[in-house]
Amino acid sequence: MTQTPATTDILSTLAGIVGDKYVLSDAAAMETYCVDWFGRFRAEGLCVVLPATTAEVSDVLAACYAAGVPVVPQGGNTSVCGASIPLGVAGAVVLCLSRMNRILALDAQGQSMTVEAGCILAKVQEAAADAGLLFPLSLSAEGTCQIGGNIATNAGGISALKYGSMRDLVIGLEVVLPDGRIWGGLKVIRKDSTGMDLKSIWIGTEGTLGVITAAVLKLFPAEGTSVDAWVGLDSPADALTLLADMRKAFGAGLTAFELMSKAQVAMVHDHVHGTRAPLESVSDWAVLMQVSAPNDGDGLVDLVETHLAAAMEAELVNDAVVARSLSQAQDFWHIRHSMSDAMKEAGMSLTHDVAVPISMVPDYIATTEKELGCRFPDAIGAVVCHLGDGNVHYNVTFPRQVWDGVDDKPGTIEEIRHLVQKTAVDQGGTFVAEHGIGRKNRAAAAEFKSPVEREIVAALRAALDPKGLMNPDTGVPA
Ligand code: FAD
Repeated sequence: MTQTPATTDILSTLAGIVGDKYVLSDAAAMETYCVDWFGRFRAEGLCVVLPATTAEVSDVLAACYAAGVPVVPQGGNTSVCGASIPLGVAGAVVLCLSRMNRILALDAQGQSMTVEAGCILAKVQEAAADAGLLFPLSLSAEGTCQIGGNIATNAGGISALKYGSMRDLVIGLEVVLPDGRIWGGLKVIRKDSTGMDLKSIWIGTEGTLGVITAAVLKLFPAEGTSVDAWVGLDSPADALTLLADMRKAFGAGLTAFELMSKAQVAMVHDHVHGTRAPLESVSDWAVLMQVSAPNDGDGLVDLVETHLAAAMEAELVNDAVVARSLSQAQDFWHIRHSMSDAMKEAGMSLTHDVAVPISMVPDYIATTEKELGCRFPDAIGAVVCHLGDGNVHYNVTFPRQVWDGVDDKPGTIEEIRHLVQKTAVDQGGTFVAEHGIGRKNRAAAAEFKSPVEREIVAALRAALDPKGLMNPDTGVPA
């Protein structure tokens, strides 16, 4: 990007705050911060700034506010919706939290942990486990994504079935406002009825209302034992019945229930080295479920097997295998966690992240499959679904040679996205359930968020960020 006297000024001001080494303005050094995880969105920024403390974040934001320079906060940059890079914003600063990665406190008795926002999710999970506790948020990008990004997107994932999304896991927050003021809401208290729950304002706002610098997180007793099973069945409706049966049998002990279509699983076996099919028979649908117990789980494997045998007897399930070792369980989960990598390899994959009422999932999948099949018979529709939350990743992959032959590529992407999302909204659902709005879903936000909702969000943004500098071109209404 061309340097003008004004940009040189702000670069040297920022270097004065964080140190020369932590202001990257060279295109090569900025590359990884300006391209999204799928490599589909590319942006140009003025520079990347890497602060080390809340005070530095505050000074950086105050300087940018005074100079009218836009800022895009960034965590692990695993957002697959173009939310974390400065798309469509000229001369923006990418403020990356990766140096703010300390665990500040762990209260084992009070079951909470205070962390800086740049902590990688897997590090937080490990710190909890070292204390014999559990931080339950779990998703395939956990080795890269950061707690601040998880909060800013209200991340969900595999364990949301039992523990909820990030919104349910935050006790307190520290936030630097767009003008540099610090809101100190880092309290370790579980109850507070002194007015509005201010921390909620920042959860899911995708960096539009300031920078989250630290958080107090809820911890839980560690699961003593987990039993994982891979199940083959005929339809999402059968999976829904099995989910209800398993919930009845195991209650809160049911900690994961992932539904996957045959095409989605096949894509992993075709493109990810070293994965093996867990069952000899191939069914149209598979469920990967996990049942956990707080103790040594005496007899839990047998109990899960008994319930699955009854489901087979009732012809609800075609085949099932319960993992008999940790490595067998890890093999099952490796398949599940490799789905995004497999889609990257398989061709042009359009990923979606909708949610519908849980009981509507079979209908949603059938309707979407039918409509997409009519319009795009050469595309592969594939599903992976957190069934317990009604969260369906309906993904559409064009093999490379098919995609090469598509004339109107942007129009095709738009048409498919609209179809997948509108079908969900028409069924009482939402167009994005986990990944955030970002640039990718800007048109959907404009279409599907009600005018009143857009006005409320825009009013909040105007109140906290009157100059409109924080992540200005994302899809969050402004
Ligand atoms: P980024 O991508 O860096 O940023 C996301 C948004 O948050 C941006 O708008 C950014 O400006 C803002 N932001 C980041 N940090 C801060 C901060 N400190 N303060 C204010 N704003 C900030 N998501 C799920 O919910 N569930 C899943 O199961 C899931 N699976 C995934 C699997 C794969 C393979 C991949 C690549 C992604 C997956 N995601 C999933 C999406 C992604 O991992 C989540 O959205 C995650 O929460 C993003 O965290 P991040 O640190 O990478 O944030």
